[in-house]
Amino acid sequence: MRLHWHRTDLRPSDNLALVTPDDDPVLPVYVFDPRVLEHAAPPRVAFVLDSLDALRNWYRQRESDLVVVRGHAPDELARLADDYDADSVSWAQAYSGLGRRRDDRVRERLADAGVDAHVVHDHLHHEPGSITTNKGEPYSVYSYFWKKWKDREKRASVQAPGADRLAAPGDDTPIPTLDDLGFDEPEADIPPGGYTAARHRLNDFCAEDIYRYDDARDDPAADATARLSAHLTYGTVGVRTLHDRVVRAREEAPDDAARESVETFRSELAWREFYHHVLYFNPEVVTENYRDYENPIEWREDSDALQAWQDGETGYPIVDAGMRQLRRDAWMHNRVRMIVASFLTKDLLLDWREGYDWFRRKLVDHNPANNNGGWQWAASTGTDAQPYFRIFNPMTQGERHDPDAEYIREYVPELRGVDADLIHDWHELSPTQRRRTAPEYPAPIVDHSERREQALAMFERARGEA
Ligand code: FAD
Repeated sequence: MRLHWHRTDLRPSDNLALVTPDDDPVLPVYVFDPRVLEHAAPPRVAFVLDSLDALRNWYRQRESDLVVVRGHAPDELARLADDYDADSVSWAQAYSGLGRRRDDRVRERLADAGVDAHVVHDHLHHEPGSITTNKGEPYSVYSYFWKKWKDREKRASVQAPGADRLAAPGDDTPIPTLDDLGFDEPEADIPPGGYTAARHRLNDFCAEDIYRYDDARDDPAADATARLSAHLTYGTVGVRTLHDRVVRAREEAPDDAARESVETFRSELAWREFYHHVLYFNPEVVTENYRDYENPIEWREDSDALQAWQDGETGYPIVDAGMRQLRRDAWMHNRVRMIVASFLTKDLLLDWREGYDWFRRKLVDHNPANNNGGWQWAASTGTDAQPYFRIFNPMTQGERHDPDAEYIREYVPELRGVDADLIHDWHELSPTQRRRTAPEYPAPIVDHSERREQALAMFERARGEA
């Protein structure tokens, strides 16, 4: 008997660790580990519970079941191996420092109990260390990584295990509720989890929106991106299944522009892999700057400004729309993530770690690799970071990417009846004009031009130039 430990691979098919080629019957298990739950948050736990439900049903339809337990993973897995007389446990490799340390503890504990560990690379097409510079070093610049990633052969997806390979546990433990696990109901509407929801999402996206991705991906009102990030974070879709479907869409593309659009989408999938490699080789980036400056960056401390940003009350409409989308949907459009992250670090001059942590608590798709990569990019401390002197102007960004203010009005009801021009000029209106236009909506909490100068000075001091 082999146990398969599901973690962020909450799907039956295209799961390389689940179908490890041995003849042993496999019993699937899931462990709610308090050390992992410490870093979790309601939106993600809700998504996981939904996904576990779907996974459990899949196993039950095949006369098997998902064993769900609570406790420290090393102890629980050793105990389950003993209870079920299993001589091995399989799982998919983790890439964060925390995940890898936990896996080492599990491996040691199982070895002490005489149980083998089968750890398989599954979450990425190309594992860390397999795409490197000609000197064998990990890339710190995405564009070179992409050149190798895009043409490297990808493994095809694999089938789910047949019912004859699955073992039945003989007892059924209920899946705990959010409340059982000590979490409140999420503030946001959480999208449906589970492998079926992921497949529908993927097929919907590849039928149409993928062909306009290139043109529409920066337009938050168009809602033309895949919305697959939570599914990728929790592995309710396998990367091979996703890529096979995307390649099929490329083959079926009606013209060159549509084919190009599919390629742009593939390049985003490569960003995800790039940031996972960065995290794997630099696990400290979750708390430390990837790139060192001469001196520490003198981030400000300002709890009122942080609160206004979190609440979407900064008086910068596109920023507030994004921050309110995060609270309402547990998700935010990528372009707007870039804008709000730039605003926190370059306008409010607050430490990117505050933003990373808020996103960690509110996003349904949070994973340390992408969240950290995005924040450090915006803060000019990351790998391919935005140069410190290129500072987003939140008003221009709003005007360019949401010209009709459709997205802004969706999330900021105080501005619903207001003309798009007035919304994009909000920072230039007089107090009287603002009062007359949208009395409930706040005035800008900072002056962008002043803060821009302060940000430049802050980075110049960090660079030892001031
Ligand atoms: P699509 O545009 O349809 O892209 C498809 C997939 O490609 C995504 O699901 C994601 O897995 C990957 N991808 C797309 N853009 C990026 C990117 N810039 N970096 C890495 N991978 C990317 N993504 C997360 O999955 N989790 C996070 O915690 C996260 N935090 C972020 C924080 C900041 C400050 C920024 C700027 C970006 C962050 N991103 C994060 C990346 C990106 O915003 C989301 O992946 C994307 O918005 C998810 O929506 P989608 O699935 O519709 O994306």
